Amino acid sequence: MTRGPILVVFPHPDDETLALGDLLALHARDGLSVTLLCATRGEAGRNMGRPISANRETLPGIREQELLEACRILGIHDVRLLGFRDRMLEFENPDDLARPVLEAMRELRPARVYTYYPEHGYHPDHDAMSRAVVLAVERLPVEERPVLLGTVFSDAALEALGEPDEVVPTASVGEVFRAAVRAHRTQTAARVARTQARMAEDEEFRAQVEENWRNMTAKLWVYPVASKGLRGKVADPAEARKAT
Ligand SMILES: [Zn+2]
Repeated sequence: MTRGPILVVFPHPDDETLALGDLLALHARDGLSVTLLCATRGEAGRNMGRPISANRETLPGIREQELLEACRILGIHDVRLLGFRDRMLEFENPDDLARPVLEAMRELRPARVYTYYPEHGYHPDHDAMSRAVVLAVERLPVEERPVLLGTVFSDAALEALGEPDEVVPTASVGEVFRAAVRAHRTQTAARVARTQARMAEDEEFRAQVEENWRNMTAKLWVYPVASKGLRGKVADPAEARKAT
């Protein structure tokens, strides 16, 4: 599907796994080099673990460790924390957010950049970070720009964005993906425990979950930088690349 290096940019520890962990595991398995820029340490997270294992002081350190563990499981060995404040990205100067992304692109020359699709990230931090990624890509000469691809927070975005440009079957790395989800313990343990308990007692639910696992896909939408996000018909990302 793709050969060059991949740059992934998200605001919080766990976005990389919950949004695209399956696809990133697939890339790692295919031997692609993947670098993750994570803007914050997720210190504003509401979950303190189950049983409670963190407090406001310890949460950022714990989430950083969870992030590194999840990335190790997914096969991402280059993880860079940018040191911005959780829940505050929308108040940051966009130039400050864009700068490390631009520097990483100049250093790594990625073929593709993944982030939340701008304005469909569902969270102010998500949208602020993806707008900064667009800004950074715009600052590269046209011929040096990577293809920018967005993931969305919920299928509600389908109506606005249309069908995804790439739908990648990812069931083959499902176990890896689920292990990475579990590694974000403070954020996911309660949900994982609830799902497991219900699977154990509800045959129909279990069958449905397993069916979903078999049909797992990663969905990506090309963000056309040259037309400021105005999506026309983009059938082939290679074409989109020429056009941006
Ligand atoms: Zn997030």
